[in-house]
Amino acid sequence: MEEDNLQRQWSLKDFEIGKPLGRGKFGRVYVAREVKSKYVVALKIIFKEQIEKYRLHHQLGREMEIQSNLHHPNILRLYGWFHDPERVFLILEYAHNGELYKELRKRGHLTEMQAATYILSLTEALAYCHEKHVIHRDIKPENLLLDHEGRLKIADFGWSVQSRGKRHTMCGTLDYLAPEMVENKAHDYAVDNWTLGILCYEFLYGVPPFEAESQADTFKRIMKVDLSFPATPIVSLEAKNLISRLLVKDSSRRLSLQKIMEHPWIIKNANPMGSCT
Ligand code: AMP
Repeated sequence: MEEDNLQRQWSLKDFEIGKPLGRGKFGRVYVAREVKSKYVVALKIIFKEQIEKYRLHHQLGREMEIQSNLHHPNILRLYGWFHDPERVFLILEYAHNGELYKELRKRGHLTEMQAATYILSLTEALAYCHEKHVIHRDIKPENLLLDHEGRLKIADFGWSVQSRGKRHTMCGTLDYLAPEMVENKAHDYAVDNWTLGILCYEFLYGVPPFEAESQADTFKRIMKVDLSFPATPIVSLEAKNLISRLLVKDSSRRLSLQKIMEHPWIIKNANPMGSCT
């Protein structure tokens, strides 16, 4: 999609709609092609009725505002949007290889090279977000997509906030919640650093570290930082070191994004080009 086309008024007539890509909580996503340029995009269709029913005006507005202003190779682009009387259409970058979550479930767990490459891509994208005062707060495998070259793209800014101070709202998905969020305490950028530790563990072991039978037990395990590393699959000491330095209860003592990028496990295993294929 050409940069100078971004400001124009789009309508459904500008697109040929292709196969459905998936269904989310509030709408459907289709692959689509812009008629003139033949540029392939993903078109996310959200019914206004749903937005009204769940009172999502503010959240959707915020998601669109934030995502359209983020330009980073590891953040899914939002090129524009339009609406008709019933629906809102988001014109999104097309992630050809779909959800990272599916890849993870299919393979059971990822290799150290894949995991390190994704963690580096995520760290770079989050450093960019934090520079712009955006905290994502809902990084989880379902919100991570892969493009045609296997590069990671963060999608879904529904829960992110633009913040200059400390925040107080409870949100996010249980297994990925930092202790300060579980306790509903004020939190800041360091919640995303905790999540990187959770994801790194899940990439390498196939399950998140504090998984439990009940929500209450997961809460307890998070609060205690009840972290253990199974004997299989075999994971290197350097990877375990990085995870242990991110899953730290005191948010001020978690490894910084800069230090993650310089960590020996990342240096040794990650492909700086971000591609895993
Ligand atoms: P969502 O409503 O954002 O949860 O999207 C529903 C599903 O559609 C996701 O789980 C993906 O599998 C797929 N999807 C969403 N956005 C894209 C995209 N930009 N490119 C490819 N697939 C997508």
